[in-house]
Amino acid sequence: MASGTIFNIQRYSIHDGPGIRTTVFLKGCPLSCWWCHNPESQKYGVQLVLWKERCIGCGGCNSVCPEGAISGGGFPPVIDSEKCSGCGLCAEECPAVALEMVGKTVSSDYVMKEIEKDLIFYDQSGGGVTFSGGEPLMQPEFLAELLEKCKARDIHTAVDTCGYANWEVLSGIAGLTDLFLYDIKHMDDLVHTRTVGVSNRIILENLGKLARVHSNILIRFPLVPGINDDRANIEKTAQFISGVGIREVNILPYHNTGMDKYARLGRNYRLTDTREPSKELTDKACEIFSEYGINVKIGG
Ligand code: SF4
Ligand code: SF4
Repeated sequence: MASGTIFNIQRYSIHDGPGIRTTVFLKGCPLSCWWCHNPESQKYGVQLVLWKERCIGCGGCNSVCPEGAISGGGFPPVIDSEKCSGCGLCAEECPAVALEMVGKTVSSDYVMKEIEKDLIFYDQSGGGVTFSGGEPLMQPEFLAELLEKCKARDIHTAVDTCGYANWEVLSGIAGLTDLFLYDIKHMDDLVHTRTVGVSNRIILENLGKLARVHSNILIRFPLVPGINDDRANIEKTAQFISGVGIREVNILPYHNTGMDKYARLGRNYRLTDTREPSKELTDKACEIFSEYGINVKIGG
């Protein structure tokens, strides 16, 4: 039986595909988008998170760490994520619940048991299961086994992907997936590389190939002011999508609800001055996609 690392299973989800769904968040992502609101999803494996405001400065974490990854005298502690092995001893020791381990390794049967709790809601609402992340294609065997088990139980499946994967992996799960939620972030490769961390070449190539073998692909376009909201980029995105025969786009307006998580992970948030897109900007983006014959929806 395959096992994998997840960081959340969210029941009663209504933003990740049709109907009422269970969204399974797999850990690990090859991208590091500046606007990512789940930064804890990016690193594969269990990860330590510090809630500084809860720390009472007892220093217990410092004394139990076998890797010498904690310093700073205890208020709050300074954690060296490079040294941390994710053993979890400090979180067990902490009396203030200021340290939390994010992610756990589970079997596909464990996940299926959680999924099956809501079978009745899937049936009644036309829902199902969405595998998200992180990037679910980073754990291909685990993902494929979960998809196979869902298919055997007649549960509708969606895969939410950034598309940055080997084509063999993506095509391997295409026949097991009812719906793809496929993210397109920017058409300019330099801007894409700067703000997302990788080139967009594989992502766009894979989308073209996937559209030839799969008929149910929904594009997700995060609208981030100052990054990808200019008319030229939205037009190029619309041209590309319609060119490969896709007619559905969801615009996901930027929000900064994940900002505090960066501090807990000891990371900087790059978009502190960025605001949510205005209604005019969002309407304009919708208008441009519509000009290319694409059905647009705002939100997930
Ligand atoms: S999780 Fe383990 S290795 Fe990491 S800081 Fe805590 S005690 Fe040290
Ligand atoms: S064990 Fe918890 S409360 Fe004590 S110093 Fe470490 S983080 Fe703070």
